[in-house]
Amino acid sequence: MTKNRVTLPAAQATSFDGDAVRVDTDLLVPGRGEPTKDGTLVYSTKTGKIVYAGSQSSLPAMYATLAISIKVPVLMPGLWDCHVHFFGEADGNLERLVQLAPALAGMRAARDVAATLNAGYTSVREVGGYGVDFVKAIDEGWMPGPHIYGAGAAISQTAGHGDLHGIPLEMMHHQINHGLPFCLADGVEGAIKAVRTQIRRGAKVIKICSTGGVMSKIDSPQAAQFTKSEIEAMVEEATRTNMLVAAHAHGTEGIIAALKAGVKTIEHGSYLTKEAIDLMIEKDAILVATRLIQVNGLRNPQNMPEGSYKKLLVVEQENKKSYEAAIKAGVKCALGTDLGLSSVASHFIHGMNGEEFGFAVEAGMSPLQAIEAGTANGPDTLGPQAPLSGQLKEGYDADFIALSEDPVKNIGVLAEVEKVTHVWKGGKLMKAPGKPLSIF
Ligand SMILES: [Zn+2]
Repeated sequence: MTKNRVTLPAAQATSFDGDAVRVDTDLLVPGRGEPTKDGTLVYSTKTGKIVYAGSQSSLPAMYATLAISIKVPVLMPGLWDCHVHFFGEADGNLERLVQLAPALAGMRAARDVAATLNAGYTSVREVGGYGVDFVKAIDEGWMPGPHIYGAGAAISQTAGHGDLHGIPLEMMHHQINHGLPFCLADGVEGAIKAVRTQIRRGAKVIKICSTGGVMSKIDSPQAAQFTKSEIEAMVEEATRTNMLVAAHAHGTEGIIAALKAGVKTIEHGSYLTKEAIDLMIEKDAILVATRLIQVNGLRNPQNMPEGSYKKLLVVEQENKKSYEAAIKAGVKCALGTDLGLSSVASHFIHGMNGEEFGFAVEAGMSPLQAIEAGTANGPDTLGPQAPLSGQLKEGYDADFIALSEDPVKNIGVLAEVEKVTHVWKGGKLMKAPGKPLSIF
């Protein structure tokens, strides 16, 4: 690539400082808005930002002398998965997490972050897990991986979705105190401290559990969790530090309580009534439906605890109906997979994230809407912490990918990792034909 870079004379380098690289494409899919035929993108390798994205015919004269470094069939923003977990656990029974050495978890997850980037995902929002601890290694260039915007631990009440109900409570507290990315909080004071604890660990978003869940043992996905004042206290505390709150919420009561308290993203949102949908629109909240984990969970009962599978049989149906109704009503959506296991046999493996686009279209989005949900809408799930990312636009992070086929015509392309031919992250080419993602 180096020989294709052009350093502009200082007099011409007005809008960026340093090297510029031009990538041409038959089709430029900007993330938000209509695609442009015969497009081009220019980025600065020094700042890692896009300096121009649009049609070749409108390319500013100051970039006209740039050689075309490469031409690809399709360019689009790097993908965003707004709901993943990096736990490094291979077993579907999450209670095994308390026996898992953090170093082993990290070793497994090193593969997972690389697989995520390899699939074209340049950013993930990690809503519970070790992600906050990996950021440094990835940013240092030690391991290839996406930008991780982590929550630290998901905050749960005792006996809530984020508790491991079969583990003695004392052992839970012990493991949490020794780095297990779980968090149990009760009462207003406990809730406030839990938020501060995640911020201290490096959270960029706060995740709470306002209902029970599928993978947790004894609770019902429909049961509301946390009191009104606990949720309000967590939102207030997060807001003071410019952080958005995401809520794991299946049941209607917990969804509505979260929204009323100021939670901005609803994760799963399986029992959305008309009232809940209206409230989501009124509050400008975002739905992250997480279809991949549910559909693949149903297909692979052998990989789930029996009780969880039984819950999923019901929840998946409700989730699909809710997602369809929300899309129809115009609720803003972002894509998230809920991938979280480190086992090929589990069929829930990091790197298959792109399947979520197909599920979004199946639920009623147009391919372009699904692309917007999986790119441009991603940063919005971080509220005030959102980076300029997810769109091919001047000033945005030079996180973008090349595809060998048009995803607007065939959304399934985004689930085919070999068709994601190139990945650039922060203006650095991370993957190209003949140059696989590598730690060396
Ligand atoms: Zn999750």
